[in-house]
Amino acid sequence: AKSAGGNRFELADPEADARTITRHGLTTALPTALDRGEFFIEYQPLVHLGDGSVRGAEALVRWLHPQHGVLGPDRFIPLAEHTGLIVPLGRWVLEQSVRQAREWREICGADRGSAPLRINVNLSPCQLTDPGLVRDTVDILERAGVEPDALCLEVTESALIGADDDLLKPLRRLADMGVDIALDDFGTGYSNLANLRRLPVSILKLDRSFTRGMQQFPADPVDLKIVEGIVSLAHSLDLAVTVEGVETGAQAEQLKVLGCDTAQGWYYARPGPPERLHELTLVDATG
Ligand code: C2E
Ligand code: CA
Ligand code: CA
Ligand code: CA
Repeated sequence: AKSAGGNRFELADPEADARTITRHGLTTALPTALDRGEFFIEYQPLVHLGDGSVRGAEALVRWLHPQHGVLGPDRFIPLAEHTGLIVPLGRWVLEQSVRQAREWREICGADRGSAPLRINVNLSPCQLTDPGLVRDTVDILERAGVEPDALCLEVTESALIGADDDLLKPLRRLADMGVDIALDDFGTGYSNLANLRRLPVSILKLDRSFTRGMQQFPADPVDLKIVEGIVSLAHSLDLAVTVEGVETGAQAEQLKVLGCDTAQGWYYARPGPPERLHELTLVDATG
């Protein structure tokens, strides 16, 4: 009912009409999809640029829709946010991922010493206003027997732009407990760089748009300068830099030279099932 006004305009355009119908089909199936067990999670490794070892993974949710097949999060996360399902869905993703992290550490992480495997989970801005966020997160970690510092919550830069203290409070509490907070899609939100200091973040995740200019060698010199500037700013604020969308060896090499800490992308691995992640981690540990 909320989007009735928008739909009225879209009816003039047959393509938009088709999109509206699809969206409507998804809207009716979405609320029950969680109960029906139709969501699953893929994991994409996070690689230390210095030595190429797997240090963590990002959890990325998918929906196995009975009619449409596997749908990526861009197809249903906005809907889930609109309908409020994102809160239970986000909690489910967190719980599954933390349990998976426990298992992954048992299989691969026994003698990793100072570099324990870490799990990154995306947090929707809607979850920030959920009063149960901190308590649920603590419960999930405790029940799985996973320490808070094995968890990183990714929040987009745009969600935190102009955030007031009430919105930041739960993140600050989680950060105080040892949970890392990453600023996702960094560089796309036009945030005031000085603002970074007041956010409880410890990691910047540089958006893919910055690494795109480095697919070729030599890289776009302006992109290089920008990334170099962001990295030096981040490091001067004690923030680690993760880069996403690394698709080629040339990009990986440039980003390493520029001082980025961690990388993620198809060059290393596509998102995949947990077993694949275990394999990649074990291969890497044995050289
Ligand atoms: P994101 O957090 O920026 O995640 C990175 C996206 O880039 C993922 O898309 C990943 O599959 C894709 N990617 C990784 N490496 C490469 C590469 O080398 N090249 C290219 N072209 N793409 C790469 P995906 O899985 O479709 O997820 C899209 C977005 O959906 C995510 O963007 C994130 O914002 C959101 N999302 C995913 N899972 C969750 C979740 O559990 N909760 C919430 N709230 N959002 C989620
Ligand atoms: Ca992310
Ligand atoms: Ca991102
Ligand atoms: Ca992104």
